[in-house]
Amino acid sequence: MNSFSAKLISWQKQHGRHDLPWQNTRDPYAIWLSEIMLQQTQVGTVIPYYQRFLQRFPDVTTLALAPLDDVLAQWSGLGYYSRGRNLHRAARVIVGDHQGRFPGNEEIIRQLPGIGRSTAAAIAVFAYGERRAILDGNVKRVFARCFGIDGYPGEKRNETLLWRKAEELLPPPSGTGENQIDGGIEAYTQALMDLGATVCTRGKPKCPICPLQADCIALRENRTGKLPVPRPRKLLPEKETVLLLLMRQGMILLEKRPASGVWGSLWCLPEMPVSAISTDYCTQRFGMNVQPLAQMQPFDHTFTHFRLRIHPQPLQVASSSCVTGGKGQERVESRWITPDEALKVAIPSPVRKLLIQYGGAQPFG
Ligand code: SF4
Repeated sequence: MNSFSAKLISWQKQHGRHDLPWQNTRDPYAIWLSEIMLQQTQVGTVIPYYQRFLQRFPDVTTLALAPLDDVLAQWSGLGYYSRGRNLHRAARVIVGDHQGRFPGNEEIIRQLPGIGRSTAAAIAVFAYGERRAILDGNVKRVFARCFGIDGYPGEKRNETLLWRKAEELLPPPSGTGENQIDGGIEAYTQALMDLGATVCTRGKPKCPICPLQADCIALRENRTGKLPVPRPRKLLPEKETVLLLLMRQGMILLEKRPASGVWGSLWCLPEMPVSAISTDYCTQRFGMNVQPLAQMQPFDHTFTHFRLRIHPQPLQVASSSCVTGGKGQERVESRWITPDEALKVAIPSPVRKLLIQYGGAQPFG
């Protein structure tokens, strides 16, 4: 066994994590769910969501048969809802094309919606003991530092180099090499994840307790703060919008977004162009008489391809207003809901932030 993987496996056995809710199982469905939830979200946040999700959707068939709205409601607060949408789509593919059985190898797993190369490999390792390399953000950081790899790891050329490294460093196939340890590939993969999450962390890596410190180039050259090289800053286009907090008798109006596009299928506050006047707009669009309330601070929300400046506008709806009909607008699904209930459905994170912020400052009128 090469010394890199041997060091990591032995470290993992002593210092790694062994009791996370998705460990100690070979159930590919449970492992898949954990891998998807752990993308962009920390373990501590994921655990309660993971447990609730599994309770509500204990297997792939239950998930496939559930309405998307239920799935996204379970995802509410976890953010990056496209993960939930893809999970649901993939469950339907598994039921439709694979007779409800989770695919049994990495190549087929990788074809499911929302599953990239690294995630497919992690599932194949933990569910089937397949010898596959992973390369998530944590692993890229460990490799970039340990091997002194310059250049932004997300760039194609660097990523190819990192994948090659990841393949080369795998422990040898089961039953070969000296000192082969049982569960080598699983312990090794878990070790990389654990090391990136708990020792070689983004901010302050804990080099004195790291099993790789003797070989680490970044540590030797005092470059741990410089590696990995951050994503090159690019100027994002900016857009603006107004989000309307329409309040009436302790309830707030939410509208369902179309399935495609930004915040697809999520429940959102109604949007208004910045050039519009809220009282006129609400009369024309909803048939409501509204009274503008004190404005809230605008804030920015960054998407991958643009930055959105959000101007929140609280409005009190006159109780005499008709609140059901829009005029001259295509019908969208909408509902009046208490802010507490709204926080339990699938809403985008800026809307969540606004509801909490506004509700904390004054009661909803
Ligand atoms: S020695 Fe420090 S920088 Fe190098 S891999 Fe370990 S924790 Fe990361």
